[in-house]
Amino acid sequence: MRKLTLDQWEKKYVIAPLERYDPKNNMFNRWSWQPEIRASVKDWRFSGEITSKPGYSLRDLALRRSSGGSSPAPRREATIAAERPGSTPSTNTATLNPSEEETSYFSNPQMVTRDIKKIAMHFGASLVGICKVENRWVYSHTYHGEGPMGAPGDTPVVIGESKPHEIPNEFQYAVVMAFAEDYSLLKYHPTWIAQSATSLGYAEMAITNAHLSAFIRNLGYKAIESGNDVAMSIPMAMQAGLGEIGRNGLLITARFGPRIRLSKVLTNLPLIADSPIEFGVTEYCEACKKCAVMCPSQSLLYGERTTEPNSVSNVGGSLKWPINAETCRRYWGQVNRPCTTCISCCSYNKPDTWPHKTVRWFTDHVRWADPLYIKMDNLLGYGAQKNADNFWEEWQPNQH
Ligand code: SF4
Ligand code: SF4
Repeated sequence: MRKLTLDQWEKKYVIAPLERYDPKNNMFNRWSWQPEIRASVKDWRFSGEITSKPGYSLRDLALRRSSGGSSPAPRREATIAAERPGSTPSTNTATLNPSEEETSYFSNPQMVTRDIKKIAMHFGASLVGICKVENRWVYSHTYHGEGPMGAPGDTPVVIGESKPHEIPNEFQYAVVMAFAEDYSLLKYHPTWIAQSATSLGYAEMAITNAHLSAFIRNLGYKAIESGNDVAMSIPMAMQAGLGEIGRNGLLITARFGPRIRLSKVLTNLPLIADSPIEFGVTEYCEACKKCAVMCPSQSLLYGERTTEPNSVSNVGGSLKWPINAETCRRYWGQVNRPCTTCISCCSYNKPDTWPHKTVRWFTDHVRWADPLYIKMDNLLGYGAQKNADNFWEEWQPNQH
């Protein structure tokens, strides 16, 4: 693993000036305001149904729903941040007179950064890094539409409210956090069992965001909590040294691969930014096309990275494998459930154990053997869908 300077990172990933992204163009919003998109699928909902197939029973769906994806409480934290950038409510101590010791603490950003990272991990983050808040990653607007869960395609469109969105300049840093999803549950993709791991990641990030923000506010500083809203998580996580972007369009971390959810807390607390990293993901993905092959809607690119967006849902100018968000999200509506296949099947989705760490070292340092690693990954059955027939009998939940 190597640290990159921001200039080196820029050369590797950003080829042209980037326009700020309007989240109205996200496929979780486009279905609601674009008549032709809305009409293209019979039903955009993906709330699921109970069937007799293993992994889709009443208790499987209950596991998924109770894990957080359908719970309004955790999601609300992020929504509040989008609505009220910069005006975070505070129980802060700003009115107190800081002692000399406290003043010297805040003039030592190394120490403050160390402590903030410890606090983030204590409150539930699996990985944490710091980046500068750059305006190009901040969404240009907020969009309040019908919500991400969809509606029947033949119902009239309801155009939501789009408002320009700025983050005050004082928010110079972001604490970017990754939340690992359960490896053993994701093996059961594409069932409700695998979806429950994703849902729990969202619930955990909301809680950790709230605790970390409360800590920062109690220091007398400001915090904006953010999940997938406010700003683009993936480039910020890359700049914060959490990982690289893969062919599947997801952040690949060294410890958990793409098996993570991302959140961030923006703050005016002076911190030290981390450096971006590389550990061979781009090169490995150039040889491996497993996610593109296994994607049920064929929404992932087989070819080279490009700066050309696939649709308005992608950001142009950055060098990556843009996913076809239209076919991906349409597929979710068609099958009436979300999909985790491009996370579950990824060669980097492995337990964080020493044999896998050893292989990861080789995939980073011995490039000529990429075809061999890919062959072994498939031969050993990694990424294959696990039969859910006996899930409830076999399941040994991880101890926290
Ligand atoms: S979520 Fe599923 S359908 Fe969408 S890109 Fe990933 S594998 Fe393909
Ligand atoms: S499955 Fe292979 S090509 Fe796809 S993101 Fe993972 S390593 Fe890259």
